[in-house]
Amino acid sequence: MTVEEKQQTQMGVAKFIKENCVVYTDTNCGACSEHCPTKAVHMKPYLNAVGRKLVIPEVDKTICVGGGGCEHACPTKPFKAIYVDGNPKHKTAQKPKEKKYRWMLVRISFLNKMGLYLKYLTRTLIASVIQCILEKE
Ligand code: SF4
Repeated sequence: MTVEEKQQTQMGVAKFIKENCVVYTDTNCGACSEHCPTKAVHMKPYLNAVGRKLVIPEVDKTICVGGGGCEHACPTKPFKAIYVDGNPKHKTAQKPKEKKYRWMLVRISFLNKMGLYLKYLTRTLIASVIQCILEKE
């Protein structure tokens, strides 16, 4: 078996349970996508019930090899929001998409994290200003 054949051996396919995901319950995460070597698990825009713009995982079953990185990284307890459903017999996955496309996903993930960081900084700044005002009174 060649290295390429090994990389495309599909041991199972990731299943996503939206109701268990922390994005569904109102915060960003994306650990599953970050740990996916083929980017079969990628993030897509998601507007939650209270109108927050978040990103939620989506599984491309055609390129998923069932490595389990997503399941291992998922923080939800007691039930994982993403897990690998093993194939009774190994199958062959398609090749992952072009690197150019993967770079776009990495950029989206990076910008999303920067947005969260800026929100944190803004909140900290506002809290400091309020504290200064209260101390002067
Ligand atoms: S790691 Fe789990 S909780 Fe986080 S986005 Fe992926 S499925 Fe949702």
